[in-house]
Amino acid sequence: MADDDFLIENKRNIDKLATKKSGINYDPSAQLSFEEIEQLDKQYVLNTYNRMPVAFQYGSGEFLYDTESKEYIDFLSGIAVTGAGHAHADLVERLNSQADMLWHTSNLFYNQQQAMLARAIVEITFPGKVFFCNSGTEANEGALKAVRVHGQSISKSKTKVITLNNSFHGRTYGSMSLTAQEKIHVGYGPIVTDMQYVEPNDIDELTAVFDENVAGIFIEPIQGEGGVLPINIEFIEIARQLCDDYDALLVFDEIQSGMGRTGKYFAYQNYEINPDILTIAKGLGGGFPIGAILFSEKNTELLKPGMHGSTFGGNHLACAVAYDVIRLFEANDLLDNVVEVGNYLYTGLEAIATKHPGKVDGVRGVGLLLGLVLNKNIEARPLVKKALEHYLVIGRAGENILRFAPPLVLRKTTVDRALERIEKLIDEI
Ligand code: PLP
Repeated sequence: MADDDFLIENKRNIDKLATKKSGINYDPSAQLSFEEIEQLDKQYVLNTYNRMPVAFQYGSGEFLYDTESKEYIDFLSGIAVTGAGHAHADLVERLNSQADMLWHTSNLFYNQQQAMLARAIVEITFPGKVFFCNSGTEANEGALKAVRVHGQSISKSKTKVITLNNSFHGRTYGSMSLTAQEKIHVGYGPIVTDMQYVEPNDIDELTAVFDENVAGIFIEPIQGEGGVLPINIEFIEIARQLCDDYDALLVFDEIQSGMGRTGKYFAYQNYEINPDILTIAKGLGGGFPIGAILFSEKNTELLKPGMHGSTFGGNHLACAVAYDVIRLFEANDLLDNVVEVGNYLYTGLEAIATKHPGKVDGVRGVGLLLGLVLNKNIEARPLVKKALEHYLVIGRAGENILRFAPPLVLRKTTVDRALERIEKLIDEI
């Protein structure tokens, strides 16, 4: 069969499938109502999320549109993912052109898109080598394995891994065990052993627990899920020093704080202290799933052939899109925009905090990863839902912090509109 005939034959088969079973609509282009989507979801999708009562059908830049084409300002970006906004024309074009060429071949073969993306990541960070995976959790899982390998290469007892209270590193056994939040562990015991949790920014505690048995420490330079909490430079400096003194690895989990969120490619670049390992995901693919672990030059031999792997990690499609996400930063001065518009948003949020002292305690965060800290008696969760009634999509971090992670292409005019809606929300408490 000639190539074209094969494609046409395939298409016909799909068309047949679309009408085959009476009563079931297989047409993927059918526009379902919200109620129909909700009903399908409740019947067939495992219930592990408390979903918000809306389904989005399309997006453009800083805006999302629901099943009735109502417009929402997106101040969450799919939890700090869609930095370039929705449906950015350049990313759509790159995705389509790569989709026409090749999607996936596995890691058994060389892959131009992967090699070029690895170089681009090194160019925006520090010299080293990259392992590709599909999510943030996987990136931390791989980093944890590497940290343990490092420890074992020095001594059998060098297995301890330090992480910070309220951190969030993922949902697999390893990354969940790194996550120092009791509620994430409940029901899953025993979790991975030899984790030591310390209070963020508590230098005395960190120094007290550090010894020769520590293989590594994981730090989110800005704790995202835990409450948009920036870690002090002094704490980071001491962590670096202790790692050097005790031959342990410093891992920065920049899955949420990275890829431009803070106005630098990565938050650690605000401190000028390099980690030994950097984990990346979320914003890297602009919405296409991809994760990465960057190993500094000294640590590129920790994981050898056969020790770690992934079927999908670093496939052609994901890497092509991620490469263009990085190119977009360069072409559009996105980092400068994050600083400028981030400051503007911060000032606007501070004004709201000042006006509502009984309800809002303050603002924290950096760039376009910001949190409005509510009074400790006010729960954030119902407000996140209520914001949808004002056509504003926001998130929550911890119990009482409203989290804002808008697209990095955000404009000041949109900030003004969002601030009005946030103010209404606070007024209504
Ligand atoms: N690490 C951090 C700092 C995160 O914020 C997240 C997700 O929120 C993860 C790891 C897990 O990433 P993923 O959900 O892509 O597995």
